[in-house]
Amino acid sequence: MGHRIALIPGDGIGPEVTDAAVRVITKVGVDIDWVVGDIGAGALEKRGTQLPEDVLDLIRETKVALKGPVTTPIGGGFQSANVLLRKALQLYASLRPVKNVPGITSCYTGVDLIVIRENTEGLYSGIEHEVVPGVVESLKIITRAASSRIARFAFDYAIRTGRKKITAVHKANIMKKSDGLFLECAREVAAKHPEIDYEEMIVDSACMQLVMKPHKFDVLLMENLYGDILSELCSGLVGGVAVVPGANIGDEIAVFEAVHGSAPDIGGKNVANPTGLILSSVMMLRHIGEAEAAGRIESALFSVLRRGETRTRDLGGTATTTEMTDAVIQALGEQ
Ligand code: NAD
Repeated sequence: MGHRIALIPGDGIGPEVTDAAVRVITKVGVDIDWVVGDIGAGALEKRGTQLPEDVLDLIRETKVALKGPVTTPIGGGFQSANVLLRKALQLYASLRPVKNVPGITSCYTGVDLIVIRENTEGLYSGIEHEVVPGVVESLKIITRAASSRIARFAFDYAIRTGRKKITAVHKANIMKKSDGLFLECAREVAAKHPEIDYEEMIVDSACMQLVMKPHKFDVLLMENLYGDILSELCSGLVGGVAVVPGANIGDEIAVFEAVHGSAPDIGGKNVANPTGLILSSVMMLRHIGEAEAAGRIESALFSVLRRGETRTRDLGGTATTTEMTDAVIQALGEQ
């Protein structure tokens, strides 16, 4: 039986990279009924809201979505469609596997770590107000329920995938109550899983150690803001935001998307690197039980990157998004 999956093209380079992933999945022959729904700046312009209720309903129904990045204005304007989506669908776990990609040179080799980020609270509560002119307050919300939930997710994930160590990243020396509660919950879950090594690290030290010794790390567990920042730092260890995939996962629903944003500087120019989104679709295929197709796409993509003849500009080549996608499709045909 075919799969019914929501496709969210997004803004900027989103439509180009999601189109690349759909073309590759079509070539590999997985039977998917894509149902398109849009969110973000484009949706706001066309439909008056950045997160239309019918698109939320669509994802609730399909339970799986492949999503392009969306644009969020800086310093004002509308609220992030991503933050609203993750809260509305309780996609509480952001999962970003950071691994060297064959053929892509970076400062390190052998990096293989997982960033797990709490996706629904922290400073992303969106609760901000001006106390008096010139004084603004942003509220960081940390709850026992959400902190225990993400810690359980991290330990379950580590056990299921054969990982050995979890590092909880925090700033509980300063935010004693909020990050203190996050750590308390992580420790409670860790105590039930002595088979996984558990350690804690202050976020500033974690940044330094990630850059100096990324191989020390296995699974990183953290609240929302640290996870946002550190997952991009980690992407830099293996070649940047364009080559790292991701997923936002809840108890029933999963939305797959790359780490990168909508890249307005190159949107619509057909030069975006589709690697991150294609690798996100590989994660999605594994999630829906299409592991064989996932493996085929991954090895076709890696063979194109390893050969190095067809690379997008960010990887030092001259290929367009379409040309790189064509090369992956051709490599699939040669398998
Ligand atoms: P960005 O990731 O969009 O771009 C950063 C740099 O990386 C730019 O130079 C861009 O050209 C380049 N880049 C990104 N993806 C690329 C790709 N696939 N191929 C080639 N080059 C690529 O980050 P930004 O500029 O900070 O943010 C732009 C917009 O994206 C903002 O509105 C932000 O809110 C949004 N954003 C969305 C998501 C998401 O939807 N998941 C994530 C991050 C940022």
